[in-house]
Amino acid sequence: MPRGNMPRQPSRSGRQEGARRAQGAPPKGAAAQSAAARSNIHPASLKARKAPKAAGLKKKSVSGAGDAASRVSTYDPLAPERVRQIIAGLDQLYPGVTCALTHRSAWELLVATILSAQCTDVRVNLVTPVLFEKYPTVQDFAALEPEQLEPDIRSTGFFRNKSKSLVGAARKVVADFGGNVPPTMEELLSLPGVARKTANVVLGTWFKKNEGVVVDTHVTRISRRLELTKQEDARKIEEDLMRIIPRERWTDFSHQVIWHGRKLCVARGPKCADCALETLCHAADKTWSTVEIHPEAQP
Ligand code: SF4
Repeated sequence: MPRGNMPRQPSRSGRQEGARRAQGAPPKGAAAQSAAARSNIHPASLKARKAPKAAGLKKKSVSGAGDAASRVSTYDPLAPERVRQIIAGLDQLYPGVTCALTHRSAWELLVATILSAQCTDVRVNLVTPVLFEKYPTVQDFAALEPEQLEPDIRSTGFFRNKSKSLVGAARKVVADFGGNVPPTMEELLSLPGVARKTANVVLGTWFKKNEGVVVDTHVTRISRRLELTKQEDARKIEEDLMRIIPRERWTDFSHQVIWHGRKLCVARGPKCADCALETLCHAADKTWSTVEIHPEAQP
């Protein structure tokens, strides 16, 4: 928690501003209020104020949003202690979390992960039980033509490409790997429709191998909000995260951040008041803040 007095919440009624408005005077703190207009961010967080003593601050910062250069020289968002606190906060919020995709085998997890592209896990989990009832084995998938699979996965979107990927992957698993999903990154990447994100999910979740960090839309958004990366490209984001997150945490970190993106740190209107990472987060689009905002911390 920040040192010093906690800022009071902005008035919900606005009554204390009424007299000033009646006299034609601008509301007190109008500029900051304007900056926070679409959120509940306390205006004081957007103005120069005494910064909290938090992980990542090498010495007491006196900078505000308008003094970024000064802050840059004192604030390290990748400081090991700050990263450790972020991981601890995720552990607190999502203890023992794992992959949200229902599966009973490596093949089922591979299928579910391919289907999850541009689709919610909830939708995938509705589709896959019916799918695996109809086609229980990888050999069943390999014997299909992609067009035969399309009606069964239509609701997950991009069903034509996904059908090709699933049938293609099944044929290669049967032809080259004896019907078993291969347990290495290189072999997984040789399967049609499998990129690093899918391979990382399968390797980390089923084979318990931390070969990389799963970078999906949630991990991208939250890593940027938390200033763990400035990159936009998934591979570069993954490289940044692999440098600062301990290897043994790569898979758990991925699942926790993905859950965080679904539950609290949603794309629009993140629920910052309920977030255990709030004092560590300076994201520009926070909806509530007790720490200074960093305008460059964009999702
Ligand atoms: S404080 Fe808000 S923006 Fe920051 S990680 Fe938490 S929910 Fe996301």
